Amino acid sequence: MAFEGLAQRLQGTLQKIKGKGKISEADVKEMMREVRFALIEADVNLKVVKEFVKTVSERAVGQDVMKSLTPGQQVVKIVKDELTNLMGGEQNPIQFARKSPTVIMMVGLQGAGKTTTTGKLATVLRKRHNKKPLLVAADVYRPAAIQQLETLGKQLTMPVFSLGTDVSPVEIARQAIAEAEKEHHDVVIIDTAGRLHVDENLMQELKDIRELSKPDEVFLVVDAMTGQDAVNVAKSFDEAIGITGVVLTKLDGDTRGGAALSIRSVTQKPIKFVGMGEKMDALEPFHPERMASRILG
Ligand code: GDP
Repeated sequence: MAFEGLAQRLQGTLQKIKGKGKISEADVKEMMREVRFALIEADVNLKVVKEFVKTVSERAVGQDVMKSLTPGQQVVKIVKDELTNLMGGEQNPIQFARKSPTVIMMVGLQGAGKTTTTGKLATVLRKRHNKKPLLVAADVYRPAAIQQLETLGKQLTMPVFSLGTDVSPVEIARQAIAEAEKEHHDVVIIDTAGRLHVDENLMQELKDIRELSKPDEVFLVVDAMTGQDAVNVAKSFDEAIGITGVVLTKLDGDTRGGAALSIRSVTQKPIKFVGMGEKMDALEPFHPERMASRILG
């Protein structure tokens, strides 16, 4: 299960302080030492851990907490609030264009789950938002990637726009948007090429597609299992092309939690969705508060 170690450690730590009728600064310090270890062990970014510990400590030793009748419970609430804040606070919905079609660009490294997520997102858009998406195969370097999207399209009975591998991705995006306007598709989801590593050529190509297609959303798909690597990838993509949100995949696995807890704070960009499995219905909106509740039990 995801976050299992972190959940166990935090719950254990908070259990100790919860019932206390009186709390001293030393109690808070001791608790925060354990919280710090738990977060570091979960592979949370060190700077993020430091800031989190500082914020919670300052709030927890405040007069209103210390003098309240249930200081233990107040401290637990502060940890939950700040964990929620760390993950972005509110759920962050998809931004739709005022004038259709809404353009969503999917970016990410190979294997992160970009193409699968494109199919899942289309499913969410059709089911929950009543939209009629057009999927666009813009990975011209891997014929298999185009095929994978076409197979998904068939499976979902969703149209896929493809011009093979001989046309540039920018041109594919241009023609796809024109096609969407003509055929009244209200959302265009562009599945761009991934690479094994972040590189200049990839970023330039993504910038070109971005410039032309003026997307309403640029979703970076990252694999939660890769922890701090995912955070670094998010930082690089955001600096190079500017992302509007993150989709964190493979949260059904036993990820320690580092990516989920660090990405927002490091990039200032929200996690919008989480992937909870390989099937097409396994994409969920990310709710920071629910996630914090799950971690703290
Ligand atoms: P891409 O190279 O980024 O387009 O990656 P793919 O979409 O081909 O996905 C790579 C692998 O990850 C595939 O086997 C997917 O089924 C799998 N995958 C994607 N998202 C999830 C997820 O949320 N959970 C799990 N368990 N597997 C996923």
